Amino acid sequence: MSTNPLLQDWAGPHGLPPFADIAPAHFQPAFDAALAAHRAEIDAIASQTEAPSFANTLAAFDASGRQLTRLEHLFYTLAASATSPELQAVQRAMAAPLADHGSAVYMHQGLFTRVEALFEQREKLALTSEQQRLLERVHLDFLRSGARLAPEARARYAAVMARLAELNTRFAQNVLGAESSYQLRLTTEAELAGLPDFVRAAARQAAIDRDLGEGIHVITLSRSLIVPFLSFSARRDLREQAWRAWVGRGDDTGETDNREICREILELRAEQAKLHGHACYADYALEDTMARTQSAVMGLLERVWHPALAAQVREREAVQGAMAAAGVTHALEAWDWRFYAEQARRARFELDEAEVKPYFSLDRMVAAMFDCASRLFGLQFKPRPDLAGYHADVRAYEVFNADGSLRGLFLQDNFARPTKRSGAWMNAMRNQSRALGATPVILNNNNFARGAAGEPTLLSFDDVRTLFHEFGHGLHGLLSSVEHERLAGTQVLRDFVELPSQLYEHWMAEPEVLKKFARHWQTDEPLPDALLAKLQAARQFGQGYETLRYTASAIVDMAAHSASQSPADVVAFERDTLAKWELPAEVGINHRLTHFQHLFSSAGYAAGYYVYLWAEVLDCDAFDAFVEAGNVFDTAVAARLRECIYSAGNSREPGEAFRAFRGRDPVVEPMLKDRGLLPA
Ligand SMILES: [Zn+2]
Repeated sequence: MSTNPLLQDWAGPHGLPPFADIAPAHFQPAFDAALAAHRAEIDAIASQTEAPSFANTLAAFDASGRQLTRLEHLFYTLAASATSPELQAVQRAMAAPLADHGSAVYMHQGLFTRVEALFEQREKLALTSEQQRLLERVHLDFLRSGARLAPEARARYAAVMARLAELNTRFAQNVLGAESSYQLRLTTEAELAGLPDFVRAAARQAAIDRDLGEGIHVITLSRSLIVPFLSFSARRDLREQAWRAWVGRGDDTGETDNREICREILELRAEQAKLHGHACYADYALEDTMARTQSAVMGLLERVWHPALAAQVREREAVQGAMAAAGVTHALEAWDWRFYAEQARRARFELDEAEVKPYFSLDRMVAAMFDCASRLFGLQFKPRPDLAGYHADVRAYEVFNADGSLRGLFLQDNFARPTKRSGAWMNAMRNQSRALGATPVILNNNNFARGAAGEPTLLSFDDVRTLFHEFGHGLHGLLSSVEHERLAGTQVLRDFVELPSQLYEHWMAEPEVLKKFARHWQTDEPLPDALLAKLQAARQFGQGYETLRYTASAIVDMAAHSASQSPADVVAFERDTLAKWELPAEVGINHRLTHFQHLFSSAGYAAGYYVYLWAEVLDCDAFDAFVEAGNVFDTAVAARLRECIYSAGNSREPGEAFRAFRGRDPVVEPMLKDRGLLPA
């Protein structure tokens, strides 16, 4: 046991684990030890003879389970970004025991009695506002985990949670399996027809990464490859093949079939909600959000749905115009949309994505996102190439405050690979907490297609948006300044959590930022004004299509989690729901249920895919505060933003935090305007 690095102190810089020494076999014994240690701590807090106080109960609970938290953060990081069959086996084996442990803690009657006693006298305890907030949040965590259920119901509830954890794990592993097993190989010039240099370079690199021979190019289901392929490939047959593979993930009869897993998850979630006395899972999930009710969510989704349908009709005319110009007479299918939309965009705005991309090299855009954080918040980033991550692609940066004091550590892992899940995300390897003396260690993952050897990785405008988005989450973790770990960083209500990330995207599109950092990788020439003007003009073209794809996914999510009868056939349910909303067939949706990781890899965004749009109302309105100040780096507005939003974590109620920043409640019009969905 003593040679297991997971059981030792991690004495390295920033408490990083000794990644190179860690093997999958170390996890099981380390989890056993950490779970036992946490159980003992919980029992000790619960069985004290002293009357409950904030210090001996709430603060003690917040500080407990350090060994387990550290281990879970590491395990989650490796499982998402550098997995292996051995690690996946540990993940399957540990899913239920970890869920059981969570239930045992949050249903611990001795501990709950003490928390409840404090909650009842909360007005008389002379607590600071953060302590008050911690007490309310922890009390709610217990209630929402079933602490107040009758004993038989508690046992059933724990069994449901354990089974759900297993199903979530299998769902995520199936999606990864479906993605990493697919490759569209292009071996002749005819198969590469239409693809610009940057797509060819990325597809060639993907083939090299997979040890495929000379002259082979590969299109994978990574967004950074499949979307450009669908936009540029002149081979309609190959576009159709790639499209079907992309939207078919998890909806198959093979090993990665997720249909039955989705069905069972939805059924168990409905049962979970009923045990809490709710009519459906959506009601249970929404109870602890800013939106609070299904009608508030559906009201917002409907507000964009109809203008987006109208916008898509206008876009379709342009797309069909491009088809006519190209002399094609076949029907407009889903795998044709991006290809002809790209041609329509080029014709209308004289804008060619291949012409834009050389200005957006990954290194320059990383410099841009750091520079914005420096101008807004005074942060400085120092590369630490000597700090090893779990993979050679991981880059480490120490982050310092304006006064030179240490803020935390930022790790960035930018490239797609077969052992990494798709999408982009932020996670904490260590949360900030003054009580624990912990500075944050924050990780960003992207899935960019790596540039060819000797050439930089070039990003699309969308990729740059993703880069800034995840770094916005990263800043939410890095700037966190709270006493207690439970309230740190991104652990806020989930329809608030996308505010810091989406807000940060606004800076990447600012001409001031683009002029400085978007420079041609070969000539170092800054992005020409004419090209910038075209980019800005073309920005809203395609918003109808994109808004429908997103909103349709959010609608299917809400429908699946609010149905009075859980769907027996999730594929038919999805089809019927989209038909009822009259989604045009050529549009498609962002995520079909059988690979909708937001909903089914965990409960994180279940009945919660709407949160991006909800937070967009907040971020567009929040950015207007800078616009109104006449300077997108205005010092006073930035200071208020940091205090109320980026550093506050969950230490204040989100509606109140927004009002403190903006001086009023949010309004929806800036979001509609930004998407070009306001009536002209
Ligand atoms: Zn996000």
